[in-house]
Amino acid sequence: MINIKQEVEALEEELIDLRRDFHMHPELGFQEFRTSKIIYEYLNNLGLEVKKIAKTGVVGLLKGEKPGKTLILRADMDALPVTEKTGLDYASVNKGLMHACGHDGHIAMLLIAAKILVNHKGQISGNIKFVFQPNEEEAGALDMIKEGVLEDPKVDGAFAIHLWTPLKSGEIGLAEGPVMGALEEFELTIMGKAGHTGSPHEAIDPILASTNIIQTLQSIQTREIDPLLPTVIMIGKINGGTGRNIIADKVEIGGTIRFLFKDEEKEKGILLEKFERVIKGICEAMNVKYKLDFIPSNPALLNNQDMVNYVRKASIETFGVDDNFVKYRSMAGEDFAEFSQRVPSVLYFIGNGNEEKETNYPHHHSKFNLDEDTLKYGVEMHIRTAIAFLNNKN
Ligand SMILES: [Zn+2]
Ligand SMILES: [Zn+2]
Repeated sequence: MINIKQEVEALEEELIDLRRDFHMHPELGFQEFRTSKIIYEYLNNLGLEVKKIAKTGVVGLLKGEKPGKTLILRADMDALPVTEKTGLDYASVNKGLMHACGHDGHIAMLLIAAKILVNHKGQISGNIKFVFQPNEEEAGALDMIKEGVLEDPKVDGAFAIHLWTPLKSGEIGLAEGPVMGALEEFELTIMGKAGHTGSPHEAIDPILASTNIIQTLQSIQTREIDPLLPTVIMIGKINGGTGRNIIADKVEIGGTIRFLFKDEEKEKGILLEKFERVIKGICEAMNVKYKLDFIPSNPALLNNQDMVNYVRKASIETFGVDDNFVKYRSMAGEDFAEFSQRVPSVLYFIGNGNEEKETNYPHHHSKFNLDEDTLKYGVEMHIRTAIAFLNNKN
């Protein structure tokens, strides 16, 4: 019989050492070379079938002794272009780079979970793929899927954990349905005609047109979309003009459109049509031209009801309480969404915020840090959800 808690606790020191080592050596998306090498060797030493995939990604396959379903446990590996200001003795040694989103913890938790699960493969029906995914902060999941991570053996379900400082340590963020926003990015150029600011009638001013566009785009959210369907249109950058007395020839604008819709394909099309209609109308009215490019990013992340139930049950066993659940949704993007669009999936959040330990900084902040006492819960959750999913014959 497995005593999961005891086995995890016996490896807690190794768990924290691993996390600190990854923390010290952050690498950007698709450049996780050192990280990837350590993971590869670790899984190889456990006796798993290990494969490199999607540049720096690694997948370790555990075959249980009895046949059954195939499950993915996923951790992301990439760090951010942030200069660390935590002052920790294991702070980043890579200048300008930092694990400021907790992915260092995700890797360590999944490695330890693999180590424990390997020892119990006699009690496991089916297979587990330990998926270490590159470049989450931009997009890496789809590359892994294109290179076959969901095939051979074919995957029946996927779990992912995100350690999360906006939730308190000990809390679990869990919800079904769409939980993280779909993201569409855009680049928009407004083209006028340059000239002297003393003779505006001889030029066409793209700056005035741009300000109108930026204002009016905001009315889509408040006047054209069902207020019960969350939508956020944001302009993140604007560039135009070279001198105080020169009418600019063009303005470049970029931003993000985020939404959480139920029928994503249909409603997204309608939203993007409205978006372009506003731009086109104002450009016509103000006699400027425009060029608009959409850059699709993630679809929405959809948590499957059955998978949510596995997490709920595992959480009650892990934490020993059933009142620590928070129905958590966020408009932030997460590329685990790509898995969730293809196989029954769930991504859930393990709270990490602790004021006394100063682990309550937001994600991507230069003083971000993890509450390391919660890492063992992540390992335990991986193990419990995996065993429950695989040993349930339905
Ligand atoms: Zn992040
Ligand atoms: Zn993250």
